[in-house]
Amino acid sequence: MTERQQTLVAAVDRNRQLVLDAERWLWAHPQTGYTEWEAHNYLKDAFLKLGYTLTEPGNIPGFYTDVDTGRPGPKLCIMGELDALDIANHPESVNGMTHCCGHHAQGAALLGIAAALKEPGALDGMSGSIRLMMVPAEEMIQLAFREELRKKGVIRYNGGKVEFMYRGYFDDVDLSLMVHGTAAGEGEPFDLSCGLGSNGCMAKTIRFKGKSSHAGGAPHRGINAQYAAMLGLQACNDLRETFQDDDHIRFHTIMMGVNCAVNIIPDEMKIESYVRGRTLDAIMAANRRINRALAGGALAMGAGVELCDRPGYSPEIHDPAFMKLVEQCCVDLVGADRVRFDYERWGTGSSDFGDLTAIMPGVQFNAAGATGTGHGIDYCVADPNRQCVNAAKAQLFVADALLTGGAAAAREIVAGYKPAYPSKEAYFAAIDKITLDKDAVVYDENGNASIDYQNI
Ligand SMILES: [Zn+2]
Ligand SMILES: [Zn+2]
Repeated sequence: MTERQQTLVAAVDRNRQLVLDAERWLWAHPQTGYTEWEAHNYLKDAFLKLGYTLTEPGNIPGFYTDVDTGRPGPKLCIMGELDALDIANHPESVNGMTHCCGHHAQGAALLGIAAALKEPGALDGMSGSIRLMMVPAEEMIQLAFREELRKKGVIRYNGGKVEFMYRGYFDDVDLSLMVHGTAAGEGEPFDLSCGLGSNGCMAKTIRFKGKSSHAGGAPHRGINAQYAAMLGLQACNDLRETFQDDDHIRFHTIMMGVNCAVNIIPDEMKIESYVRGRTLDAIMAANRRINRALAGGALAMGAGVELCDRPGYSPEIHDPAFMKLVEQCCVDLVGADRVRFDYERWGTGSSDFGDLTAIMPGVQFNAAGATGTGHGIDYCVADPNRQCVNAAKAQLFVADALLTGGAAAAREIVAGYKPAYPSKEAYFAAIDKITLDKDAVVYDENGNASIDYQNI
């Protein structure tokens, strides 16, 4: 560790209690995407107390502040996420919600970075600026609620980072960085790790439409939307063998329940789902088959089906040169035997951090410290020093390595980066092509059906 790195470590350590207190408080106040006002207010107060001026969207949670070194250069954005998940069976759930993805630890770590950057000498030698940002709604859940927000004009996109991009909060950002916790299990020797990237995804809401009637006395007068949904999903499952291994397609669904009694033929079955894959093209190709299969299930029963497809997240691809710099910083902090960077490992989950990596160099790496299963009822942060304090130090090392010496390293990474899209506008045009609203099966007066499940 260099003298400079020791200065940064000491700056975080002087604020350790602030970080640990924030981790406990945020864990105890989980809220889901676009409603995370408690965490927003807690972190906002803490940032204001440190003397920061914040920019806030106002109608959704989240904020950012810029830390200027006083010397010109690139802008690095370091993020923390605000949102929790619906998981009522978690023993520590609050109003049915828990931070079982560990996003609360990111806010605590970002607060530690904010406090450390106020310590004397913290910015010495750096050029450019650091944007510290709390973002809402990483978990793409509660699709009906998000659609309601979209229709009201509150948001345009499901993901908080995508929405912030749309609002221009990344327009002057050159590189993006964040740390996500990982529940690697007991005995996991790696403090800090990273893979090449992960799947993108799209959001699907599916509504099978039938006709209610007496389930015992007159089922022949009804159309069972639940059975139509089951047939449609069975057809999708049978399609899985047609998906190419290299595309890493994942299609998963959750039936949102019916709105009637057991002795009524259900006239509606809503399903929320994702299609995930390695590329946007692969996702859209798989989705066309899935939509056809869903229409087939509806047709078999004489039911209808509404398909509502929305952009999700772009595939996340970490810039290898940036990854290399981050890896060295992690090694400097905890030693090579506690760091694992795998330049080929591909994850099948998705994050809206991927949308940032589509237009700028970015790395999202992982800090250990949690136990249990991510998104599971046994998830907890067992070692907040490992998950939050380490994350704060590692990210400060990265900021320093990028921006020191006239920000030479940052400039080199930005110059060598090959974006998936030439501009933000081209990126939005590409993801907007996913949007689809179709009544996929329509019957005429003779009972003949026409099928329409794609935007052609
Ligand atoms: Zn997460
Ligand atoms: Zn998650």
